[in-house]
Amino acid sequence: MGEYVKVSEIFGENVFNDTVMQERLPKKVYKKLKDIIAEGGDLDLETADVIAHEMKEWAIEKGATHYTHWFQPLTGVTAEKHDSFITAPLPSGKVLMSFSGKELIKGEPDASSFPSGGLRATFEARGYTAWDCTSPAFVRQDAAGATLCIPTAFCSYTGEALDQKTPLLRSMEAVDTQAIRLLRLFGNTTSKKVTPSVGAEQEYFLVDREKFYERKDLIYTGRTLFGAMPPKGQEMDDHYFGTIRQKIAAYMKDVNEELWKLGVTAKTQHNEVAPAQHELAPIYAEANVAVDHNQIIMQTLKRVATKHGMKCLLHEKPFAGVNGSGKHNNWSLTTDDGLNLLDPGKTPHENIKFLLILSCIIKAVDEHAGLLRESAADPGNDHRLGANEAPPAIISIFLGEQLEDVVEQLVSTGTATSSKKEGVLETGVRTLPELDKDATDRNRTSPFAFTGNKFEFRMVGSRDSIAAPNIVLNTIMAEAFCDVCDVLEKADNFDEAVHDLIKKNFSEHQRIIFNGNGYSDAWIAEAERRGLPNIRSMVEAIPELLADKSVNLFEKFGVFTRAELESRVEVKYENYAKTINIEAKTMIDMAAKQFIPAVIRYTKTLADAIVSIRAAGVEEVSVQKKLLEDCSVLLRKTQEALKSLTEIEAKACVMEEGKEQAEFYHNMVVPAMEALREPVDELEMLVDKEMWPMPSYGDLLFEV
Ligand code: ADP
Ligand code: MG
Repeated sequence: MGEYVKVSEIFGENVFNDTVMQERLPKKVYKKLKDIIAEGGDLDLETADVIAHEMKEWAIEKGATHYTHWFQPLTGVTAEKHDSFITAPLPSGKVLMSFSGKELIKGEPDASSFPSGGLRATFEARGYTAWDCTSPAFVRQDAAGATLCIPTAFCSYTGEALDQKTPLLRSMEAVDTQAIRLLRLFGNTTSKKVTPSVGAEQEYFLVDREKFYERKDLIYTGRTLFGAMPPKGQEMDDHYFGTIRQKIAAYMKDVNEELWKLGVTAKTQHNEVAPAQHELAPIYAEANVAVDHNQIIMQTLKRVATKHGMKCLLHEKPFAGVNGSGKHNNWSLTTDDGLNLLDPGKTPHENIKFLLILSCIIKAVDEHAGLLRESAADPGNDHRLGANEAPPAIISIFLGEQLEDVVEQLVSTGTATSSKKEGVLETGVRTLPELDKDATDRNRTSPFAFTGNKFEFRMVGSRDSIAAPNIVLNTIMAEAFCDVCDVLEKADNFDEAVHDLIKKNFSEHQRIIFNGNGYSDAWIAEAERRGLPNIRSMVEAIPELLADKSVNLFEKFGVFTRAELESRVEVKYENYAKTINIEAKTMIDMAAKQFIPAVIRYTKTLADAIVSIRAAGVEEVSVQKKLLEDCSVLLRKTQEALKSLTEIEAKACVMEEGKEQAEFYHNMVVPAMEALREPVDELEMLVDKEMWPMPSYGDLLFEV
């Protein structure tokens, strides 16, 4: 048994959090910083110097030698450049450890090699990182020693966003402004701020480290590009919530402890549906912190896996035919004085403010369904969304029986007079407690489900940052709130106007509400009748960013300029093309250098066997011959598919970067990859396992 730790003692021990700041900063400085964290404003250099000094002293006590501006460029992962605290040697030959306010507030990484989508002209390649004081700094301990990590935003010389954090912070301000405006109209004079709360459930796979390194596809692309199905998959439903094996439990214990030290509220863990698949969820936090924490979670999952002789796969679809991984983005709006705007109360039909807010959400999601779908688009997610597993690519909203009934009443009669009761769950056993049933119910097949006092957006990919979906959610809500405020501020009769708006929003956007089975074919047809978009792939989703209504939306609320959106579109097409390019090249490499030679060796042993059996005077060699024939036919198919993929890939490579190239990859290269995979997977079932050049799905999924 390992050592036991006291969670309350280690929690947040490596975070420059409020307690540390209060202890270490002079009162005036502390107050100034707290004001800026709450309300924004400029930090003068003198104050910054004091904070930087205290931060450095604290970090050094934790063993830190370096600091880094930690940021989230458009690569999908975080970036950092480390600087040590040392100064130039003194005449005595010794060095001092220093860290100035200027170094805390602003960094200037050589940004020319981060994706900018043409935003940063080459003559002005500078990019700036700026301290985001709303997300606390932390000390990360790893093989590099200890490093003070300072969460920062990343912008170009002219202030354009080159990262995920800048637009996220802008969108949080936008929804704050509009939500406060709405609350004031309802007579709320006390709440000062409305913040989106986000809790992201992270799914991941664990595989054996040595086996991982025997597969070039896992090494280069994070997913398997070949592989026949093992005899057993997830059909027995015996992994989901199953007992966690000791090896995995030890890993989770380590992950939790590391996360707790970093102030991440790791809360829930369980086995997921697929073999070797697991999930970790923290307690929700302010959107900005939740986005940073999710990055820390992904990094920690990976780092700790290596220590335990495993590899953590965050790819959306590491194994074909086995459930992929996603990230459920739980989202709500909360005031600084603890009011959850999405809380319906016991009798939602009487809760006029809640109904108006709900109607705004329905309207926002219906009007910008394409944009929301785009926010979950990434090359890996193409294998999940709209394919034969969770969730469908069509955006719809699940409200649950109680709220759907209220909406129904409102739309048909203009007023809602009752709320269905949740009732009690009867187990039929006298010794079991009576359980209150959740009136909001659960629907696992809905991409956007109301779950009590929050919405759960289930489309996000497991590897992706959760910044994009939250930017969209915050901004579309800002718009919907703004629209109703515009009407209400001019209304003569407030109550009547609220009532009319609720009815109007629900009536006009009821088509987005769907409580049935989102995986069924019938829903696809029904959604089409309702005119809901069904965007099946990333390349089809990207243009949503530049649709007129999207550009107007983002510009109106100061979240993105058109130029910023154009740059993101460019980065996304490039990212898609590069991802598929690497996958195609990896397949070509594996087929040419591993599979074809292995099959040739195997067919030679068959041929040799036939000769020696015959030499021994036995004529019956039909089994060996049949195998030899079958393998040879598949080998030929493999060879042809390889040739075809190589040619198509060569064409794609020389195309100019952009939309057309990305579409070519999607429409031409991806099918050619599938055509190559098919005969190879069939061969895997025929060829002697001893001679197959890499671990199988069974080896990877069941022998962790
Ligand atoms: P599930 O049954 O889907 O796993 P959980 O109750 O475990 O749902 O919650 C999932 C996530 O939702 C957690 O990260 C949790 O902290 C978060 N969450 C709970 N309430 C809220 C809320 N009001 N706003 C945002 N996230 C929330
Ligand atoms: Mg869950």
